[in-house]
Amino acid sequence: MGMYDGKAAGGAGGSEYIQILSRWASIGFALFIGFAAWLLTAAAWQWTVGLILGYIGYNLWLCRRYTLPGAGELLVSLLLCAGLTYVQAEFSNILYHLLLMRTALRVGRRRIGRVTAMVMAAFLAATLAATGISVGPAEAARIAFNLLGFSLVAYAAARLDLFLAKQASDDQQMLELIKQNDRNYHMALTDALTGLYNHRAYKERIDSLPQYVLLMVDIDHFKKLNDAHGHLVGDKVLVTIGNIIKLSVRSGDLAFRYGGEEFVVVLPGTTPQMGMKIAERLRQKVAEWEFESGAGRIPVTVSIGMAVRRPGMSSQAIFEQADRALYRAKQLGRNNVQPYSKVGPEVAVKFGV
Ligand code: GH3
Ligand code: MG
Ligand code: MG
Repeated sequence: MGMYDGKAAGGAGGSEYIQILSRWASIGFALFIGFAAWLLTAAAWQWTVGLILGYIGYNLWLCRRYTLPGAGELLVSLLLCAGLTYVQAEFSNILYHLLLMRTALRVGRRRIGRVTAMVMAAFLAATLAATGISVGPAEAARIAFNLLGFSLVAYAAARLDLFLAKQASDDQQMLELIKQNDRNYHMALTDALTGLYNHRAYKERIDSLPQYVLLMVDIDHFKKLNDAHGHLVGDKVLVTIGNIIKLSVRSGDLAFRYGGEEFVVVLPGTTPQMGMKIAERLRQKVAEWEFESGAGRIPVTVSIGMAVRRPGMSSQAIFEQADRALYRAKQLGRNNVQPYSKVGPEVAVKFGV
């Protein structure tokens, strides 16, 4: 039938809830109709009770499957409702209204008109078949009253569908905004070239970490490398070293591109001995890496200064210590790791630079 594929536009939870609820409500009303027919022993009450049992059985089966209304449900339920109208069961018109409500919500506002027309046609045909074409004023009023009811239900369903669709789109917009915000925040703290955290991220994060090993990593003679091979090759070297650093640290560690060719690695919960090992491993990896340019292999090395932040020390103080250690590494010929304080198996003794 085509008109039931897909959900109602913006078929939000609210709409589905009403669809399911109205099916249950129709089972309750059907029970009432059947009971009333039996109690009032209306003409052909056995037919009414039979149709009602069919209606309840069918809808209970649908409820058990917990599916939303579909084309089949509209047709079968309409047929049963028309049967009830035909045998002139009292109050059966309420079932049309509930059926219209859940189907209208299901198909979405653009197809509500078609569903309403189908329900109206079924109701009219069954009524006229039962009463004959020439209806009296009371019957005409009843028909008009029900047609008005169908229109109101259809209108309410269309409005509700519109409201839910708007709410869903508002939610979507809000979600987009949050995501965009997240992306902006991430971008503001990330170095575009290497994908490492940037200087700003370092400033934001560092004060909240009371104890860590700090490695200051600086590429040796990078200016010469740039001059000899060009800035693009220099950039590639930066990216590769960024990747080597990423691969060398553990998940809780933080790696920053602090400046042009300077990187800072923060290792929380690490002993000075361990820090030295990690720094040495990193230095070695860079020294052994095969950096290639069009003209062949480029030797690239880094010098690393290490310092340890202990409680009571400012992040500024430890940064300066690492910087001094790095300075000494450069002085000692580059391509080596220097701690600010001597790292021994026992207490750290200040080197005194
Ligand atoms: P040292 O061994 O003493 O550290 O010598 P160096 O040449 O590495 O140090 P210096 O501070 O004199 O020069 C750093 C160079 O890094 C200068 C600059 O051109 C280069 N540089 C900084 N940022 C970038 C960048 O984003 N891309 C490229 N390709 N080069 C950069
Ligand atoms: Mg430098
Ligand atoms: Mg340098």
